[in-house]
Amino acid sequence: MKPVEIVLVYQSLLGIYGDRGNAMVLRKRLTRRGIDAVLTEVEPGQSVPSDAAVYLLGGGEDAAQVSAVNGLKADGHIFDAVENGAVLFAVCAGFQIVGNTFTVGEQDEVIEGLGLIDVDTRRGDVRAVGEILTTATLPNGRQSLITGFENHGGFTTLGPKAKPLAKVEIGIGNANDGTEGAVQGKVIGTYPHGPVLARNPELADQLLELALGRELDELVDPELDELRRQRIAAIRKTGRR
Ligand code: GLN
Repeated sequence: MKPVEIVLVYQSLLGIYGDRGNAMVLRKRLTRRGIDAVLTEVEPGQSVPSDAAVYLLGGGEDAAQVSAVNGLKADGHIFDAVENGAVLFAVCAGFQIVGNTFTVGEQDEVIEGLGLIDVDTRRGDVRAVGEILTTATLPNGRQSLITGFENHGGFTTLGPKAKPLAKVEIGIGNANDGTEGAVQGKVIGTYPHGPVLARNPELADQLLELALGRELDELVDPELDELRRQRIAAIRKTGRR
């Protein structure tokens, strides 16, 4: 069987928050189950494969975001990949990029995103910085607590085609409106770093199940469960730090 291909997109532009860890987590959770997986890294100027299983975009600064969106539009293959049924998981700047529009710089210049998810991002009245705790409704209908660290100035509002990924318990999320992230088909955007898939293995497995179109065996990870329990207890006790 062909290995499951995970594509990490434009780390040189969207790699400042350690979101590359999401790719490592996905690959590891496949290989631990005996499923072959390969990680492909694509940089601007290189062609994005159009037949991989999962694509990952991370967080980055305004200027890098604009370069990334221009590169992805010029290449065009990310659109084919989504059309072909791939999972696209985009964090923070990545989330904004896959939306309809976002703004950058002091003048709030409006930039056209990829339009793969029905959201728009504008500068918020505060910068959202700190730990965040949400409850996601996963594509399989299960609820799962998500912990992470958010750091964004853009506030994102959802159009009718996108559904929120989660409800905020502590933190700002999309626009201080109680929602976090967005889902449209197999395109999923979210604000938390962490990396978020390292902190939230259930979300990681959901992305893999979506990509493979089947359920995966559970992985037993007592140490990870304990770390998660402590993180969730800490943020609930001290609130946002
Ligand atoms: N430049 C975007 C914002 O501040 C994204 C930041 C990020 O990826 N952390 O909203």
